[in-house]
Formats: sequence, C-alpha cells, structure tokens
Amino acid sequence: MYIMNCRSGENFSQGKLVPYGNIEISPSASILNYGQGLFEGLKAYRKENGEILLFRPDQNALRMQMGAKRLYMPSPSVQQFIDAVKQMVLANKHWVPPHGKGTLYLRPLLMGTGSVFGIAPAPEYTFLIFASPIANHYKGQSSFNLFINDEVHRACPGGGGDVKSITNYAPVFEAVNQAKANGYSDILFLDASTGKYIEEVSSCNIFIVKGNVISTPTLKGTILPGITRKSVLEIALDLGYQVKECDISVEELMDAEEVFTSGTAVIITPVSSVTYNEKKVEYKRGEDTVSYKLRILLTGIQTGILEDNKGWTLPVD
Ligand SMILES: *Cc1c(COP(=O)(O)O)cnc(C)c1O
Repeated sequence: MYIMNCRSGENFSQGKLVPYGNIEISPSASILNYGQGLFEGLKAYRKENGEILLFRPDQNALRMQMGAKRLYMPSPSVQQFIDAVKQMVLANKHWVPPHGKGTLYLRPLLMGTGSVFGIAPAPEYTFLIFASPIANHYKGQSSFNLFINDEVHRACPGGGGDVKSITNYAPVFEAVNQAKANGYSDILFLDASTGKYIEEVSSCNIFIVKGNVISTPTLKGTILPGITRKSVLEIALDLGYQVKECDISVEELMDAEEVFTSGTAVIITPVSSVTYNEKKVEYKRGEDTVSYKLRILLTGIQTGILEDNKGWTLPVD
C-alpha cells in the first residue's frame, strides 16, 4: 500500500510504498471521532497485450481535492495522486487480472489522523492507497431490482452528499440492509426537500431512457458527481442520443423504457425493476438496450479494445 503524511497548513510531499497492513493512529484522531475522511475508487485494467491502463485518474484526484476542501483537509496534488496510483499498480502488477477477467480496484483514502480533543480538524493527515483484485461477475445478465425508500435520505441540500465523504455511507446501512433482506439489490433515494425526484442509488448514479433521450438527475449538491456518469453523458452523445441533465420525477422514472446505473464498481448495470409504494415496474434488458451499447463502448475504451480518442486512459509503465 502507499502512504503519505502531511501536517495541517503544509503540503503533502514524500510518500512511500509499504507492505499492506494495519496502521496505528491515535484514539483521538479526527477520522475516528468526527468522520474527517474521504475515499476514492478507481480501477486498473489489463489490455489484451498485457499492458495496464488507468481510466481518468485525474478526475478522482480532482474530486478528492474538492472533498478535501469541504472537510477542511490538505490534499495531494493531481500529479501526486496519479503518481501514487501508478506506483501502487506497478508494485502490485501481478494482482492485475488478465484482460476480460477482472480489474485491480484501488481505494485511495484521505483522513485526519492527528489527535484532536475538541471538535475540530486534525493537525495531521494521511493519504493512503490500498488495492484488491476483483472479478468481472457481469455476464450480460446481472441487473438491479431497486426499492424506493422515501423515509431515508442519503443527502440533503447543503450537506455533504456531493463529496465522497466516509460519513455518507453508514447512515443508510440499516435501510439498504433491510431492502436487501426483502430481496432488492439496493435503494434508490429521492430528494430530501420534496420527495418527488430521484437522486441516486447508495453508491451509483442513475439514468433513464425514453426513445432517443437519455436523462440523469442534475448535480445540485446532493448527488455524487460520478466519473462514470460524466463519461456516460459524453459517449451517449457520441452515439447520437439526446442527453439531458434534469429533474426526474418518480412518475417519469416509472414511465421510462430503460433504466440503468453507473459507477466504477457497477460500470453500467441495467435496472430490471423499481418498486415504489407496493408498485413494481419492470424495464427492458438484454443486448438490444442502450445500456448494453454504452457498456460495450465504455469497457472497450477502459480496457484498450477500442481507440481512446478522448485521452481518458493513462498507461502505467
Ligand atoms: C462513488 C460513487 C458514485 C459513482 O462514482 P464513479 O466516479 O462513477 O465511481 C455514485 N454515487 C455515490 C454515492 C458514490 O459514492
């Protein structure tokens, strides 16, 4: 794993690779007491010829910087972030699965590790990256059955829902777990102000398709700005679809032909059904869908099968 420390008011300078293992921090570290921490997630992809690619790591670096500003932490520069990710991939090269079999998932963390007694930001910070290989389970079959829970919200206006703060996840564990126990894959959250519009799933963004139009909720501070979301919007335009970022009501969702989710982990995964107030609506799936076409195009770029004319991929050498 990669680790780099920095004192408050200074800049991150020299990080290093160390064996994966526990880290020691004070019980009064701000991350443990006040949740002063962020995470990121990105993957390393093996090309057919054995080379390794990263997908838009600069975007993860920039998102971490935005979150760090919000949580009042120093953050690595974009170049430091990318260099650290590259070093991690090179040091763990043998863990990057063969082309088509899976990816190496990288998890950067930024956290307040210095001791602080009163409620305040920490005097010292740690940037860390660990990694794990993950398999491609998707065989063109996998899909989500989503449940709309209108009593629990993952974000509210003015809150921290638009940064990858560690504090955004545990508050919905109970509700998501309950949904899973009832046979659903995850929860689709509605906006906390009116409860009329869809926002996102607990760790991925959402899109609806009707005719030639692909829509996704506008980023208004309560939705995590996904890098996959942003990429989908671009490649959908390239494929000739009309692309919209707008408010999407539950009624419009129920009336869509196709619904799909996007995120580094799920890539693009179709939604087979949405259940709201006892009403279950099913959507189109399979190889003749927009989400399938988008997934082939996106994973083609990520794994070097298709030409990357956007400069999104970065070779690790
Ligand atoms: C990470 C995350 C996403 C997806 O972002 P990507 O950059 O596409 O991986 C969407 N929603 C939430 C809440 C997330 O934490």
